Amino acid sequence: MGRISTYKVELKGMQSSEASYNWMADNDFFQLIEGEEVQKGKVSVDLNVHKKDNLYLLDFSLSGSITVLCDRCLDEMSWPIDTTGNLKVRLGDDFADDGDVIVVPENDGTINVAWYIYEFIALAIPLKHAHMPGKCNKEMMGKLSSHTAADPSDEDDERAAGNGTDPRWDGLKDLLNENDE
Ligand SMILES: [Zn+2]
Repeated sequence: MGRISTYKVELKGMQSSEASYNWMADNDFFQLIEGEEVQKGKVSVDLNVHKKDNLYLLDFSLSGSITVLCDRCLDEMSWPIDTTGNLKVRLGDDFADDGDVIVVPENDGTINVAWYIYEFIALAIPLKHAHMPGKCNKEMMGKLSSHTAADPSDEDDERAAGNGTDPRWDGLKDLLNENDE
């Protein structure tokens, strides 16, 4: 996964009970992650790790912007991101992430937070996101409405026309047939 290892956080080897990290989740990050919802963006990620007894508390704060597709015109639009997220992690035998606490193998002692960062960003996108009224890409809207207006039977007609039911072609066929006779 290449540079995704940048997002590895040392837990077992923490030198004190606190640690902090900062990353910039940019276009390269989103390309590496290959998530469905977000492919582009620039989000600053701050992480504070706090060790408390056997638990590692990871607090993320994320701010910046991402590129999403508008619900109405499907054109790209910038969406601000300003969100937080947290993880509770402990060391154990095998990796497990099935609820409240994530378990990472003690013999590794690190957690890669790249996918969690992506999830916090993706979760911050509201279900509906569209340009302000009147700000949609008119060209895209035009293409979409002409596309949705055409029902499948219309497409069949067009295809049939290509196969020679167009009256002009029928006329030509008649001429050709006459030549054959
Ligand atoms: Zn739009």
